[in-house]
Formats: sequence, C-alpha cells, structure tokens
Amino acid sequence: MAADRRRELEEKVYAGERLSREDGIALYESDDLAWLGRLAHHVRTTKNGDRVMFNVNRHLNLTNVCSASCAYCSFQRKPGEKDAYTMRVEEAVRKAREMEGEQLTELHIVNGLHPTLPWRYYPRVLRELKAALPGVSLKAFTATEIHWFEKISGRSADEILDELIDAGLESLTGGGAEIFDWEVRQHIVDHATHWEDWSRIHRLAHQKGLRTPATMLYGHIEQPKHRVDHVLRLRELQDETGGFVVFIPLRYQHDFVDAADGKIRNRLQARTTMATPAESLKTFAVSRLLLDNVPHLKCFWVMHGLSVAQLSLNFGVDDLDGSVVEYKITHDADHYGTPSTMHREDLLELIWDAGFRPVERNTRYEVVREYDPPVPLAQRRAQPQQVWA
Ligand code: SF4
Repeated sequence: MAADRRRELEEKVYAGERLSREDGIALYESDDLAWLGRLAHHVRTTKNGDRVMFNVNRHLNLTNVCSASCAYCSFQRKPGEKDAYTMRVEEAVRKAREMEGEQLTELHIVNGLHPTLPWRYYPRVLRELKAALPGVSLKAFTATEIHWFEKISGRSADEILDELIDAGLESLTGGGAEIFDWEVRQHIVDHATHWEDWSRIHRLAHQKGLRTPATMLYGHIEQPKHRVDHVLRLRELQDETGGFVVFIPLRYQHDFVDAADGKIRNRLQARTTMATPAESLKTFAVSRLLLDNVPHLKCFWVMHGLSVAQLSLNFGVDDLDGSVVEYKITHDADHYGTPSTMHREDLLELIWDAGFRPVERNTRYEVVREYDPPVPLAQRRAQPQQVWA
C-alpha cells in the first residue's frame, strides 16, 4: 500500500471517521498484519477498554433434520438417516437441566428446518425451558428459522416473534447470514432466506426491543470484497435500527469429519481450503474498523482454536463465546485440537493470560460479574494494555 494511502487510512481511524467500501478493500489488500491490529486495537480499546466479555451458555440443537442442504453444512441430516434426531420437549428440558449446576445464564438454540415438526412445537419448547430454568435467557432461532416458521405456520414474522417473545425468547441468534452477496450466496446456501428476508426479520426483532447478533461465514469461496459488502449492509441496517449488539465472523470449517460415519459432508471441500490464522486475524481487524456502530466483536473460539482466540483480542475482539459444554453444528470433529468444552475458569485464565480483564455478561450484554486479576497481574494489567507500540 502506498505510504500516503496508508497515512490517509490511519488518519481516518484515529479521527473516528467512517471508512468507505474502498477503504475496507484496501485494508484487506494490506499485508501488514501488525498495522491492521494496531488500528483495530485502537478502536477496540476506545470502545471497550481492556475488557473481554464472555457468558456461560449452552448450545442446544433441538433437531438436526433439515429440509435444506447448504453446501458448507456438516450438521443437517435427512429424515430417516441413521443419526438424524429430533428432541421431544421433555428431552430438551432434561438436557438443559443438566447444566443447572454451571450457573448457566443463556441457552443458545439453533436447529435444522424440520420438514414436518409443527409450528406449535417451538413456542412450547421455549415455554417449558423457561419454566424449568427461569433465570436462563433464551437466545433462539436464526432469521432463516423464523422465515421457515412463516412458511409452516402461515403466520407473519410479526406474529411469530410476538408468540416466541411471549414464550420467553430474549434474542434471535445471528446465523443464516453467511455471505449476503448473491454472487457467492447462490453457491453455498440452499434455503430461501437471503438478505431481504434476513434483514426484514432482524429489523422486526429490533423494533420489538430485541437486541440481536449478526454473523458472517468467511474463508470459503468468497473474496474480501464480499466480506466488505456483507459488513456494510449490516452497518447500514444498524444505522437504521441500532439493534445489533455484536458481530461474529465465523470461520468456515473445511474438513469436519463426521464422527458417526467418518464422512465429510461439506460439498465445498473440493473448491476450498480454509482461512489461515493470519486471514482470520485480518478479518477480525477489518470488521472492527468498518463496523463502527456495533459495540462488540466476538471470536467464537470453537471455530478458531484457542491460540487465535487469544490473539484476536489484539485484533479488535472484545467478546469470547462460551462456556460451551456441547456444540454440534460444526463441531462434530476437527483436526485442530480445539476442545469442544470449556468452563468459566478456563476462560478466565485464557483472558488474563492474554493481558485483558474478564467480564462475565448476560445475553443483553449487561455485566454479571467483573473478575479481578490474580496478583501480580493486577499491577501489570491495571490499565488497558497497549500491546502495539
Ligand atoms: S446450514 Fe442450517 S439451513 Fe443450511 S443445511 Fe445446515 S442446518 Fe439446514
């Protein structure tokens, strides 16, 4: 990158000016990872100090039976497949109850688009879960699932959200976003929910007072310009609603082997590799720089590994997801030594060790508890740590 262009970008970032589409593409073209990290760390520190938020949650997948066959998906099964499953309401409640002793604050519920489960099953599950675990927030369903519920119930998203909120829903999940640009989306997504419906449903949720996450699946067949486009669509919607609380870049998983049968189900595999750690850190940094109106940036460590998760805290990330005790959607198996479970104490160590201050939050990003660092880290980390000289 030419020196004057680099200076121009630095000046914009330090002045708090909004970056353009061209700026985003130029940042992706830079091979100076430390420079990108320094810029993103400035924004991250300005917004969130030396805090790293996390919550104690559990992922619950009510069914892996799905009408769609998205090219990247290793989770979905067709009816009758050997390991296809659908939980009865009582089973879902029993599984959730197993976590009660963990001071769980959130259940994160996403599912396949089941072809025959009736609409009434979904509010009933939420109601029963809420009755069993009244102190636990229910973050449930992607916009794709809400769109599916419109189809199977004949009701509008407006009515569906009202009923789910009445049953205990506190937030949608951020999934189903993948990459919004049709040039890419048509090759990876097999359901009917694209930007128009995804944004319609999140807008509606925001109007009803829910704050929601937004995700982006990167590192497959998309190019940096598609990531920039994705983030700018979200930025524009956020200008309108202010309802997105966190952005989560999700690293496409190239080579999940199904533990049940040893198969690789991902149909993109012949055309893809997988984002390298450097590419992931760059994606975090550029996302943080472009998305100036969303308060938090999350690293979902299950998809990145713990090393990248720690490093990401210096590339704009201020939120680490879990404790996750069971996670199925992409984590049937991996080759990266990433544990599929982690607990509060593990996360505290991870965050302190990286030089930051852990803060436990709830689904609404309200502080549940701040954790003082153990001595002698207290002196060293009393101030936001400026790791980039
Ligand atoms: S990503 Fe979701 S909608 Fe697509 S096949 Fe997998 S479970 Fe179904």
